[in-house]
Amino acid sequence: MNLTPDQRVGRIEASLSRVDELIRRYKSKGRDGSPARHTLCLTADGVITDASVGAAQMLGLSRNSLLGQTIFDLLAGHTRSLFEHGWEALVKRVRSAEEEYRLVRASTLVHASGYEVPVRLLVERCPKHNAHILLALQDASHRGALEHELARLKESYRTLADTVTEAIVQIDHEFVIRFANSAVYKVFGYTMEELENQGLDLLFPPSRAGRYRKLVNRYFFIDDPDRETSGLQGSLEVIGRRRGGDLFPLELSLGNSRGFGDNRVLTCILRDISARKKDERRLKFLAFHDQLTALGNRDMLEMTLEQIFAEMERHPGRRGALLFLDLDGFKKVNDSLGHEIGDTILKETARRLTNCLREHDRVYRFRDRDVFRLGGDEFTILLPYVARPEDAGVVASRIIESVVEPFTVEQHGPVTDIRMGVSIGIALIPDDGRDRSTVLRNADTAMYSAKERGNTYTFFARDMNSKAMNRLLLEDGVRRALRNNDFELYYQPINDESGRMLGIEALLRLEQEDGSIILPDDFIPVAEETRLIIELGRWVLDRACMQIGHLHRTGHPELFVSVNISPVQLERDDLHDVVHESLERAGVEARHLILELTETTIMRDAEDAIRRMKMLVEHNPGLRIAIDDFGTGYSSLSYLTRFPVDSLKIDKGFVINMDEEHNSKIINSIVSLGKSLGMTVIAEGVEQDRHLEYLRGKACTRYQGYYFSMPLPFSRLTEYVREHG
Ligand code: C2E
Ligand code: MG
Ligand code: MG
Repeated sequence: MNLTPDQRVGRIEASLSRVDELIRRYKSKGRDGSPARHTLCLTADGVITDASVGAAQMLGLSRNSLLGQTIFDLLAGHTRSLFEHGWEALVKRVRSAEEEYRLVRASTLVHASGYEVPVRLLVERCPKHNAHILLALQDASHRGALEHELARLKESYRTLADTVTEAIVQIDHEFVIRFANSAVYKVFGYTMEELENQGLDLLFPPSRAGRYRKLVNRYFFIDDPDRETSGLQGSLEVIGRRRGGDLFPLELSLGNSRGFGDNRVLTCILRDISARKKDERRLKFLAFHDQLTALGNRDMLEMTLEQIFAEMERHPGRRGALLFLDLDGFKKVNDSLGHEIGDTILKETARRLTNCLREHDRVYRFRDRDVFRLGGDEFTILLPYVARPEDAGVVASRIIESVVEPFTVEQHGPVTDIRMGVSIGIALIPDDGRDRSTVLRNADTAMYSAKERGNTYTFFARDMNSKAMNRLLLEDGVRRALRNNDFELYYQPINDESGRMLGIEALLRLEQEDGSIILPDDFIPVAEETRLIIELGRWVLDRACMQIGHLHRTGHPELFVSVNISPVQLERDDLHDVVHESLERAGVEARHLILELTETTIMRDAEDAIRRMKMLVEHNPGLRIAIDDFGTGYSSLSYLTRFPVDSLKIDKGFVINMDEEHNSKIINSIVSLGKSLGMTVIAEGVEQDRHLEYLRGKACTRYQGYYFSMPLPFSRLTEYVREHG
């Protein structure tokens, strides 16, 4: 049978109380372990001169009525003659004995109401009257059965007590161990025999024993139902001491005390909880630490921040700092080289942070436990005390120095050096927040601002919040606009030198409820960061293809549409399918679509871009690719020859500012470069006559700009096409 520890304890307690009862009945006063003695005092002739109340009760008579009777009158017939017979000799032996003498005889007395009472008679000399004899009566009626029952109970109690793995001891009111089960050996290293009659203190370190005594003492006097109201716990966590002197955590549960006065005993159950404590410590560690780096996690940070705030209340004027770190370029490493390498870098970063802080801890009182990882590549460092705010900046620059050191990783043999950067935002405590969420948010905001430049640190400034707020609003706005279909495509014509329209560029607009329009430069970066651009980009492709299809069917079958593609879209392996599906759905041929990729997008990872551009063209034969904002990136000639690209779009900045000599020089070289590579050159930002004049002279063949038209909503574009198509 599987019993819970509580059930087991309950059973033991029940058995204990029965044993106690029996012991009490048997052990109360008799010198030989016999029950209470009921005595009669007799003359040598057997006449009763005195009787105890118990003896009188046993015979169903009053004390007075016993006096004067003889013992023979009280005996049952069948034992009387035997008794009478030996009486004289008995008296002689008792009285002549030098020492106290006792004789035991079994006899039967008759109760006043007639029934027989089997007794054991103890005969001895009366200590007061030498001539008298004392007769003690023991009720023997149930003795055998009771003895048997006692033995049985003792046995089962032992078995129970020895079955449990907890040590059980019973102590008396002087804290002497009266009973111990066999498990004491496993828990403390003492045998049961060794512990019995020892003080309970033996099981505790001497330095604590006194305190524990006081604690346990209260349990002697307050029993269970009242313990809770008296503030006594069901069990105590204490420190135990094994035979060899080892200390260990121990749980001490105390049963109700039993017995009265000097017979009071208390049952103590002692459980070794080393394993449980270890588990608890491990669980606690897991709950508050990051598994990968073993640094504290967000919960730990929040808890530590609470402590710092409490300390600051006690020491006003003290100042701390929270550094919020985010690795630059980690995502790319993780995506391209795999999570294993990503993990190695995170672990190494954690090590570097702790080491570098430890090395320079004089200015800002650093503690190892104040470095945290919040998840991903985000770390925070808490400086509980900085003398001057600048010190936090000193720490930040030390951190940057240590993180930019190349990370050496091994991947399938060869060792590679990976370079990472880190952006750090600093919030001062309490200057930049008097509660943990404000401090955290502000440090995070400052980090975002540092991120714009990369590999640098930035202190939080109030106006960052409004920027962060706008960014949040914008992010929410983009999400909502996607849901509500608030985006619209505008189209700007692309013409030849005679002003004849050849195609259009699709330009995205976000139309707000009040009719105002948000331009893409404001929301595209947010859409890219949140990757909402993937969904948005699909929508743009779909819509642009549909609308150019419409123009084809309404009499302008040769117009092309040019669609801007974000680097986030290019990174996706399914872009060629997405393009294909849009064309199919709209029934438009690939040769009528141009994808615009900015020069910077392509040059981020030129090899990868070449591979992806080739894939786009392979899956969509006839599709053309243009390099947008050409001249602002850093294409190298060797790459240019390898790009599967049809046209270059001169960035509008060069055109608008062509009066400056270096700009016109750049225009010249782009035009001749395009010519020699066999690419079409398109000029953007053609605003004025003289722009057009100049470009014509340089043999540029395509133009786009306000001079011809602003970007137009589709309805207005159809009018424009009628006039210029
Ligand atoms: P872009 O692709 O270089 O687009 C040309 C930008 O120049 C457009 O700005 C256009 O309105 C503007 N522009 C045209 N002619 C003139 C002119 O004569 N003078 C001046 N000063 N500006 C002129 P817009 O529409 O604000 O778009 C800005 C950028 O946003 C685009 O630059 C493009 O990179 C991006 N973008 C626009 N639509 C999308 C889109 O659907 N997807 C993606 N990923 N990016 C887009
Ligand atoms: Mg463009
Ligand atoms: Mg452009």
